[in-house]
Amino acid sequence: MLFAEGEAGQAAYLIMDGEIEIFLNREGDEIALANRGIGEIVGEMALLDAGLRSASARVVADCSLIPITEDQIQHRLTQLDPIMRMCLSAVLERYRDMVSLVSKAALPRQTSAAEQAETPPDDRSTTPDTSERQGHSDRMKEAIGQLVMERELRRALDQGELELFLQPIVRLSTGRFAGFEALMRWRHPERGLVPPLTFIPVAEASGFIVELTRWALSEVGRVMPQIMLASLHNPQAVEGTPFLSVNVSGHDLALVDFPAMIARMLETSGMAPESLKLEITESILMQDPRQASDTLEQCRDTGMGIAIDDFGTGYSSLSYLTTLPITTLKVDRAFVQAMLGDARSRKIVQTILRLAEELAIPVVAEGIEQPAEAEALTAMGCDFGQGYLFGKPVPLTETLALIRKHNAAPGRSADQDTDAVIRDITTSQSNMRRIG
Ligand code: C2E
Ligand code: MG
Ligand code: MG
Repeated sequence: MLFAEGEAGQAAYLIMDGEIEIFLNREGDEIALANRGIGEIVGEMALLDAGLRSASARVVADCSLIPITEDQIQHRLTQLDPIMRMCLSAVLERYRDMVSLVSKAALPRQTSAAEQAETPPDDRSTTPDTSERQGHSDRMKEAIGQLVMERELRRALDQGELELFLQPIVRLSTGRFAGFEALMRWRHPERGLVPPLTFIPVAEASGFIVELTRWALSEVGRVMPQIMLASLHNPQAVEGTPFLSVNVSGHDLALVDFPAMIARMLETSGMAPESLKLEITESILMQDPRQASDTLEQCRDTGMGIAIDDFGTGYSSLSYLTTLPITTLKVDRAFVQAMLGDARSRKIVQTILRLAEELAIPVVAEGIEQPAEAEALTAMGCDFGQGYLFGKPVPLTETLALIRKHNAAPGRSADQDTDAVIRDITTSQSNMRRIG
């Protein structure tokens, strides 16, 4: 016997070879339900909702079985997208209702694996029913909220409510703008400016991020000539032709035609591939390293840059640094901001800088807010900096004004530039008044 009716569902089995019979036991009589063979899984429903077996299973021909344990399933369930979890729990509920109708012997309801997975193991036996129901309804609300946002996001894209803000990345030793990172914003008609961390994860979970990235890339192609024009007006402000960085997701890298799509965008906009940088986090790289590597190689071959975003917060495996065509490391702002007060963070930053130097990869320090942070990083040999000290992410028109007025100097903040712009405007207005 593989498992018996009424037993707890702690494992399912994948049949590699042989045959399994599934049957019910009713008042001493066995009722045959089905036979299962190679490639099929038995026992999966009780495993999924951590319920009791609604039937028994026994081997009828020599079998090779691969057990799938409750732990393995629970681990995957916790990582499931909330909408998938909602669908799965609806299917399971229907299944349980059907079984109880068919067998006329209602099975005791138990907490589903999806619900259990979010409850610490010690609490499981004592969790009151009400808190289970509360947890379930919270998850339903989360899933429904996600569905609503997905629909709204599609509408937002169609209605032109999305906007790319730009944040400068400066060469620390000169204060010149080396490039700009494109950061998405949603100008919601009622909610105002919605930050990306509210909607990007939803777009990533649904795969809609692919549409957003496509849009972001075409926007980058559209704004690049304006950035170049502003740079020509004030060549001292910039370092050669500034680059534009775009954040990309795992879904984008999984698209076979992603490199071709970028190539088309570059061709249409006339933007040089060297002026485009793709920002990818380590966790995205690790989702499917081979796929990521293929896509990034193709992108790099055309000349565009590849930056590792939030470096230091992701995976500990650094082997990809030698195998992937990385052109920039962006040190996460958590280390930069803790660096002055915390020796360990400073050591981490120093270690990353040394590692990058060995690999001849330039580093951008993210989240610089204080002049002292910029000075310390410059002294440590960090090439580039990004952060509120040099400028917050702002709309294109403000970025163009910033480039036109930027008076490059090491560690100089954009606020100082903005102050200067405001002074200029005020002075010229009062001059005009005086003339008038
Ligand atoms: P990220 O790519 O690491 O972008 C840097 C984030 O740090 C931005 O947040 C920026 O506003 C913020 N930041 C920059 N300097 C400072 C500073 O000095 N202090 C502080 N406290 N924060 C600073 P934002 O714009 O809210 O974006 C958050 C994340 O959303 C981004 O992190 C990126 O992962 C994602 N994201 C933004 N736009 C896009 C996009 O177009 N596509 C994708 N796939 N992801 C995006
Ligand atoms: Mg980024
Ligand atoms: Mg980052």
